Amino acid sequence: MNARHLLIVVNNWLVRRHRHRFAPSEILVLLPRCLQRADCDRSVVTDLDACRRCGRCDVAALIALRNETGARFHMAGGGREAAALTRQPAVLAVVACACEKELLDGIRVAFPKPVLAVPNTTPEGFCRNTRVDIGRLRAAIQELLKPAA
Ligand code: SF4
Repeated sequence: MNARHLLIVVNNWLVRRHRHRFAPSEILVLLPRCLQRADCDRSVVTDLDACRRCGRCDVAALIALRNETGARFHMAGGGREAAALTRQPAVLAVVACACEKELLDGIRVAFPKPVLAVPNTTPEGFCRNTRVDIGRLRAAIQELLKPAA
């Protein structure tokens, strides 16, 4: 286990320990743009719904997860945009998906807001056609959601 991985594990443990719970609209799910297929011409960074759901990457499944949970899903074009999104007053908690380096930056920038970090997978190398475990992302969102009344 490298140092970055260990820090992410400790962060997630601390967030879970506090048992924070939020309404769906208070949870930001932050996604890296490299989840979109590199050869896809749809403008999903500005509007996730621009995806035509061909299924060649995880964006279609992410839209379904957004609709299922009601959380705010955003694909960030870079670190600065991600930081601005996490600082929005209406955002009280974050579920972040990215590489471990970006996740640690995001946890630091979002502090003191709780961030549950879900590393993406990089079957074609960093920053290109990355993937996310949808089940793991769903579990992280559900851990932060208030139970339905
Ligand atoms: S699912 Fe298809 S249309 Fe949607 S972003 Fe991925 S490659 Fe593009």
